Amino acid sequence: MFILLEGKPIAEKIKTALAAEIAMLKTKHGKSPKLVALQIGDNASSAVYVKAQKKAAESIGIEYELKMLPQDLSQSEVENVISDLNKDISTSAVILQMPVPKGIDPKILVNMIAPGKDAEGMHPENLGKILSGQYRIAPCTAMAVMELLESTGIKLYGKEVVVVGHSEIVGKPLSIMLLNKFATTTVCHIATGERGTLPDHVKRAEVLIVAVGKAGVVKGEWIKDGAIVIDVGINKVGDKIVGDVEFESAAKKASYITPVPGGVGPLTTTILMRNAMEQFKAKL
Ligand code: NAD
Repeated sequence: MFILLEGKPIAEKIKTALAAEIAMLKTKHGKSPKLVALQIGDNASSAVYVKAQKKAAESIGIEYELKMLPQDLSQSEVENVISDLNKDISTSAVILQMPVPKGIDPKILVNMIAPGKDAEGMHPENLGKILSGQYRIAPCTAMAVMELLESTGIKLYGKEVVVVGHSEIVGKPLSIMLLNKFATTTVCHIATGERGTLPDHVKRAEVLIVAVGKAGVVKGEWIKDGAIVIDVGINKVGDKIVGDVEFESAAKKASYITPVPGGVGPLTTTILMRNAMEQFKAKL
Protein backbone atom coordinates (compact mmCIF):
# COMPACT_ATOMS: atom_id res chain seq x y z
CA MET A 1 0.00 0.00 0.00
CA PHE A 2 1.35 3.40 -0.95
CA ILE A 3 0.97 6.70 0.87
CA LEU A 4 -0.10 9.63 -1.30
CA LEU A 5 2.45 12.38 -0.77
CA GLU A 6 0.43 15.57 -1.12
CA GLY A 7 1.99 19.03 -1.13
CA LYS A 8 -0.92 20.99 0.29
CA PRO A 9 -0.71 19.93 3.98
CA ILE A 10 3.04 20.71 4.04
CA ALA A 11 2.44 24.03 2.27
CA GLU A 12 -0.24 24.95 4.82
CA LYS A 13 2.12 24.19 7.71
CA ILE A 14 4.89 26.36 6.22
CA LYS A 15 2.44 29.19 5.48
CA THR A 16 1.04 29.15 9.03
CA ALA A 17 4.57 29.45 10.45
CA LEU A 18 5.46 32.22 7.96
CA ALA A 19 2.27 34.18 8.75
CA ALA A 20 3.06 34.08 12.49
CA GLU A 21 6.63 35.23 11.92
CA ILE A 22 5.58 38.02 9.53
CA ALA A 23 3.02 39.29 12.08
CA MET A 24 5.64 39.17 14.84
CA LEU A 25 8.21 41.09 12.74
CA LYS A 26 5.59 43.68 11.78
CA THR A 27 4.86 44.34 15.45
CA LYS A 28 8.55 44.53 16.27
CA HIS A 29 9.87 46.51 13.29
CA GLY A 30 6.72 48.03 11.71
CA LYS A 31 7.64 46.49 8.34
CA SER A 32 6.44 43.59 6.18
CA PRO A 33 8.05 41.83 3.21
CA LYS A 34 7.15 42.95 -0.30
CA LEU A 35 7.45 40.68 -3.31
CA VAL A 36 7.44 42.31 -6.75
CA ALA A 37 6.57 40.16 -9.78
CA LEU A 38 7.71 41.38 -13.17
CA GLN A 39 5.64 40.24 -16.10
CA ILE A 40 6.59 41.32 -19.59
CA GLY A 41 3.62 41.28 -21.94
CA ASP A 42 0.44 39.22 -21.68
CA ASN A 43 0.81 35.50 -21.13
CA ALA A 44 -1.87 32.99 -20.17
CA SER A 45 0.40 30.64 -18.16
CA SER A 46 2.07 33.54 -16.30
CA ALA A 47 -1.37 34.86 -15.42
CA VAL A 48 -2.19 31.57 -13.60
CA TYR A 49 1.05 31.69 -11.58
CA VAL A 50 0.68 35.38 -10.77
CA LYS A 51 -2.83 34.77 -9.41
CA ALA A 52 -1.60 31.92 -7.21
CA GLN A 53 1.37 33.98 -5.98
CA LYS A 54 -0.82 36.96 -5.08
CA LYS A 55 -3.22 34.73 -3.16
CA ALA A 56 -0.44 32.97 -1.27
CA ALA A 57 1.39 36.23 -0.46
CA GLU A 58 -1.65 38.10 0.77
CA SER A 59 -2.85 35.16 2.86
CA ILE A 60 0.30 35.37 5.01
CA GLY A 61 0.92 39.12 5.10
CA ILE A 62 3.43 39.57 2.26
CA GLU A 63 2.68 42.60 0.12
CA TYR A 64 2.52 41.56 -3.54
CA GLU A 65 2.92 43.91 -6.48
CA LEU A 66 2.54 42.79 -10.07
CA LYS A 67 4.48 45.07 -12.41
CA MET A 68 3.12 44.55 -15.90
CA LEU A 69 5.59 45.74 -18.52
CA PRO A 70 4.60 46.27 -22.16
CA GLN A 71 5.36 43.41 -24.57
CA ASP A 72 7.49 45.68 -26.80
CA LEU A 73 9.87 46.94 -24.09
CA SER A 74 13.52 46.56 -25.10
CA GLN A 75 16.06 44.49 -23.14
CA SER A 76 17.72 47.64 -21.79
CA GLU A 77 14.40 49.15 -20.73
CA VAL A 78 13.58 46.01 -18.72
CA GLU A 79 17.09 46.11 -17.24
CA ASN A 80 16.40 49.68 -16.07
CA VAL A 81 13.25 48.50 -14.29
CA ILE A 82 15.28 45.82 -12.49
CA SER A 83 17.98 48.36 -11.55
CA ASP A 84 15.32 50.57 -9.99
CA LEU A 85 13.86 47.64 -8.03
CA ASN A 86 17.33 46.70 -6.80
CA LYS A 87 17.65 50.23 -5.37
CA ASP A 88 14.09 50.47 -4.00
CA ILE A 89 14.26 49.93 -0.23
CA SER A 90 10.58 48.92 0.02
CA THR A 91 11.12 45.91 -2.32
CA SER A 92 12.31 42.79 -0.44
CA ALA A 93 12.29 40.33 -3.34
CA VAL A 94 11.75 40.19 -7.09
CA ILE A 95 10.55 37.40 -9.38
CA LEU A 96 10.70 37.53 -13.16
CA GLN A 97 7.73 35.65 -14.63
CA MET A 98 8.51 33.24 -17.45
CA PRO A 99 8.24 33.06 -20.37
CA VAL A 100 9.48 36.44 -21.56
CA PRO A 101 8.77 37.76 -25.10
CA LYS A 102 11.11 36.95 -28.00
CA GLY A 103 14.10 39.30 -28.13
CA ILE A 104 14.42 39.45 -24.34
CA ASP A 105 17.21 37.41 -22.73
CA PRO A 106 15.82 36.07 -19.43
CA LYS A 107 19.20 34.82 -18.21
CA ILE A 108 20.71 38.32 -18.29
CA LEU A 109 17.67 39.64 -16.38
CA VAL A 110 17.76 36.89 -13.73
CA ASN A 111 21.48 37.54 -13.22
CA MET A 112 20.75 41.25 -12.83
CA ILE A 113 18.33 40.89 -9.93
CA ALA A 114 20.41 41.62 -6.82
CA PRO A 115 21.30 38.32 -5.07
CA GLY A 116 19.75 39.76 -1.89
CA LYS A 117 16.44 40.33 -3.72
CA ASP A 118 16.33 37.14 -5.75
CA ALA A 119 13.03 35.42 -4.84
CA GLU A 120 13.62 32.31 -6.96
CA GLY A 121 17.13 31.43 -5.82
CA MET A 122 18.29 31.46 -9.44
CA HIS A 123 21.02 34.13 -9.24
CA PRO A 124 24.43 32.48 -9.79
CA GLU A 125 25.62 33.70 -6.38
CA ASN A 126 22.66 32.02 -4.65
CA LEU A 127 23.00 28.86 -6.75
CA GLY A 128 26.69 28.77 -5.83
CA LYS A 129 25.90 28.80 -2.13
CA ILE A 130 24.03 25.51 -2.53
CA LEU A 131 27.38 23.86 -3.34
CA SER A 132 28.64 24.55 0.17
CA GLY A 133 25.32 23.65 1.78
CA GLN A 134 25.08 27.14 3.28
CA TYR A 135 22.02 28.72 1.79
CA ARG A 136 18.93 30.55 3.03
CA ILE A 137 17.06 30.45 -0.26
CA ALA A 138 17.04 27.96 -3.13
CA PRO A 139 15.18 27.30 -6.39
CA CYS A 140 11.57 26.78 -5.36
CA THR A 141 10.80 23.47 -7.07
CA ALA A 142 14.03 21.78 -5.95
CA MET A 143 13.37 22.96 -2.40
CA ALA A 144 9.74 21.75 -2.62
CA VAL A 145 11.04 18.26 -3.46
CA MET A 146 13.37 18.35 -0.43
CA GLU A 147 10.42 19.32 1.81
CA LEU A 148 8.34 16.44 0.47
CA LEU A 149 11.19 14.00 1.12
CA GLU A 150 11.70 15.35 4.62
CA SER A 151 8.00 14.88 5.39
CA THR A 152 8.36 11.12 4.82
CA GLY A 153 10.99 10.95 7.58
CA ILE A 154 13.44 9.18 5.24
CA LYS A 155 17.14 9.51 6.06
CA LEU A 156 18.82 10.23 2.75
CA TYR A 157 22.28 9.30 4.05
CA GLY A 158 23.69 6.60 1.74
CA LYS A 159 20.37 6.04 -0.07
CA GLU A 160 20.28 5.30 -3.80
CA VAL A 161 18.60 8.43 -5.19
CA VAL A 162 17.97 8.87 -8.89
CA VAL A 163 17.02 12.27 -10.34
CA VAL A 164 15.69 12.19 -13.90
CA GLY A 165 16.12 15.62 -15.51
CA HIS A 166 19.07 18.01 -15.19
CA SER A 167 17.55 21.44 -15.76
CA GLU A 168 18.96 24.48 -14.01
CA ILE A 169 15.72 25.10 -12.12
CA VAL A 170 15.08 21.56 -10.88
CA GLY A 171 17.45 18.65 -11.52
CA LYS A 172 20.85 20.36 -11.11
CA PRO A 173 20.23 22.25 -7.84
CA LEU A 174 18.28 19.29 -6.46
CA SER A 175 21.12 16.86 -7.14
CA ILE A 176 23.49 19.09 -5.13
CA MET A 177 20.99 19.39 -2.27
CA LEU A 178 20.76 15.59 -2.20
CA LEU A 179 24.55 15.25 -2.22
CA ASN A 180 24.67 17.64 0.74
CA LYS A 181 22.55 15.04 2.57
CA PHE A 182 25.00 12.28 1.57
CA ALA A 183 22.53 10.57 -0.75
CA THR A 184 24.23 8.42 -3.41
CA THR A 185 22.91 10.55 -6.23
CA THR A 186 22.58 9.62 -9.91
CA VAL A 187 21.39 12.22 -12.41
CA CYS A 188 19.80 11.02 -15.65
CA HIS A 189 18.91 13.19 -18.62
CA ILE A 190 18.15 13.14 -22.33
CA ALA A 191 21.37 11.27 -23.16
CA THR A 192 20.47 8.54 -20.63
CA GLY A 193 17.10 8.24 -22.35
CA GLU A 194 18.68 8.10 -25.80
CA ARG A 195 21.19 5.47 -24.72
CA GLY A 196 18.32 3.33 -23.40
CA THR A 197 19.72 2.97 -19.87
CA LEU A 198 17.01 4.96 -18.06
CA PRO A 199 15.18 1.78 -16.86
CA ASP A 200 18.43 0.38 -15.36
CA HIS A 201 18.96 3.51 -13.26
CA VAL A 202 15.31 3.87 -12.22
CA LYS A 203 15.19 0.20 -11.13
CA ARG A 204 17.93 0.88 -8.55
CA ALA A 205 16.28 3.96 -7.04
CA GLU A 206 15.16 3.87 -3.43
CA VAL A 207 14.16 7.48 -4.01
CA LEU A 208 13.15 8.55 -7.51
CA ILE A 209 12.57 12.14 -8.60
CA VAL A 210 11.41 12.79 -12.14
CA ALA A 211 11.44 16.26 -13.73
CA VAL A 212 11.36 15.77 -17.49
CA GLY A 213 8.10 17.12 -18.93
CA LYS A 214 7.11 14.00 -20.92
CA ALA A 215 3.99 12.12 -19.86
CA GLY A 216 4.72 8.53 -18.82
CA VAL A 217 8.46 8.67 -19.61
CA VAL A 218 9.01 6.53 -16.49
CA LYS A 219 7.12 3.23 -16.56
CA GLY A 220 5.53 1.84 -13.40
CA GLU A 221 7.18 -1.56 -13.91
CA TRP A 222 10.65 0.02 -13.50
CA ILE A 223 9.90 1.24 -9.95
CA LYS A 224 11.73 -0.59 -7.16
CA ASP A 225 9.48 -2.11 -4.48
CA GLY A 226 9.04 0.38 -1.63
CA ALA A 227 10.58 3.34 -3.50
CA ILE A 228 9.64 6.94 -2.75
CA VAL A 229 8.51 8.54 -6.01
CA ILE A 230 8.36 12.31 -6.51
CA ASP A 231 6.89 13.32 -9.86
CA VAL A 232 7.66 16.95 -10.74
CA GLY A 233 6.35 16.75 -14.32
CA ILE A 234 3.30 18.66 -15.46
CA ASN A 235 1.91 17.50 -18.81
CA LYS A 236 -1.39 18.23 -20.49
CA VAL A 237 -2.82 15.08 -22.05
CA GLY A 238 -6.24 15.76 -23.58
CA ASP A 239 -8.07 17.68 -20.88
CA LYS A 240 -6.09 16.07 -18.04
CA ILE A 241 -2.90 17.11 -16.25
CA VAL A 242 -0.55 14.16 -15.68
CA GLY A 243 3.00 13.68 -14.46
CA ASP A 244 6.07 12.05 -15.99
CA VAL A 245 5.57 8.74 -14.15
CA GLU A 246 2.84 6.23 -15.03
CA PHE A 247 0.89 6.72 -11.81
CA GLU A 248 -1.37 3.64 -11.57
CA SER A 249 1.36 1.05 -12.11
CA ALA A 250 4.01 2.98 -10.14
CA ALA A 251 1.67 3.28 -7.13
CA LYS A 252 1.53 -0.53 -6.96
CA LYS A 253 5.27 -0.59 -6.21
CA ALA A 254 5.93 2.69 -4.36
CA SER A 255 5.83 3.31 -0.60
CA TYR A 256 5.15 7.02 -1.16
CA ILE A 257 4.13 8.70 -4.41
CA THR A 258 3.16 12.28 -5.26
CA PRO A 259 -0.05 12.91 -7.19
CA VAL A 260 -0.04 15.18 -10.25
CA PRO A 261 -1.55 17.66 -9.79
CA GLY A 262 -1.35 18.13 -6.02
CA GLY A 263 2.18 16.95 -5.18
CA VAL A 264 5.10 19.28 -5.86
CA GLY A 265 3.01 22.09 -7.41
CA PRO A 266 1.21 23.41 -4.30
CA LEU A 267 4.51 23.64 -2.43
CA THR A 268 6.46 25.59 -5.05
CA THR A 269 4.60 28.88 -4.54
CA THR A 270 4.91 28.51 -0.76
CA ILE A 271 8.69 28.14 -1.04
CA LEU A 272 8.72 31.30 -3.18
CA MET A 273 7.04 33.09 -0.25
CA ARG A 274 9.57 31.65 2.16
CA ASN A 275 12.43 32.85 -0.07
CA ALA A 276 10.88 36.36 -0.15
CA MET A 277 10.60 36.29 3.63
CA GLU A 278 14.23 35.15 4.01
CA GLN A 279 15.37 38.07 1.85
CA PHE A 280 13.31 40.48 3.97
CA LYS A 281 14.70 39.07 7.23
CA ALA A 282 18.31 39.28 6.00
CA LYS A 283 17.89 43.07 5.61
CA LEU A 284 16.24 43.77 8.95
P1 NAD B 1 13.51 21.14 -18.92
O1 NAD B 1 12.89 20.97 -20.27
O2 NAD B 1 14.31 22.35 -18.65
O3 NAD B 1 14.40 19.86 -18.60
C1 NAD B 1 13.96 18.58 -18.91
C2 NAD B 1 15.00 17.58 -18.51
O4 NAD B 1 14.57 16.28 -18.88
C3 NAD B 1 16.36 17.80 -19.17
O5 NAD B 1 17.38 17.57 -18.21
C4 NAD B 1 16.42 16.72 -20.24
O6 NAD B 1 17.74 16.31 -20.53
C5 NAD B 1 15.62 15.61 -19.58
N1 NAD B 1 15.01 14.65 -20.52
C6 NAD B 1 14.30 14.93 -21.64
N2 NAD B 1 13.91 13.78 -22.22
C7 NAD B 1 14.37 12.76 -21.45
C8 NAD B 1 14.29 11.35 -21.54
N3 NAD B 1 13.63 10.76 -22.54
N4 NAD B 1 14.87 10.61 -20.57
C9 NAD B 1 15.53 11.20 -19.56
N5 NAD B 1 15.65 12.55 -19.42
C10 NAD B 1 15.05 13.32 -20.37
O7 NAD B 1 12.29 21.01 -17.89
P2 NAD B 1 12.09 21.59 -16.39
O8 NAD B 1 11.89 23.06 -16.48
O9 NAD B 1 13.10 21.03 -15.47
O10 NAD B 1 10.67 20.94 -16.07
C11 NAD B 1 10.49 19.54 -16.08
C12 NAD B 1 9.03 19.24 -15.79
O11 NAD B 1 8.73 19.70 -14.48
C13 NAD B 1 8.04 19.95 -16.72
O12 NAD B 1 6.92 19.11 -16.92
C14 NAD B 1 7.63 21.18 -15.93
O13 NAD B 1 6.34 21.64 -16.29
C15 NAD B 1 7.63 20.60 -14.53
N6 NAD B 1 7.81 21.62 -13.48
C16 NAD B 1 6.95 21.58 -12.44
C17 NAD B 1 7.08 22.49 -11.41
C18 NAD B 1 6.13 22.42 -10.25
O14 NAD B 1 6.03 23.36 -9.48
N7 NAD B 1 5.43 21.32 -10.05
C19 NAD B 1 8.06 23.47 -11.47
C20 NAD B 1 8.98 23.45 -12.53
C21 NAD B 1 8.84 22.52 -13.55
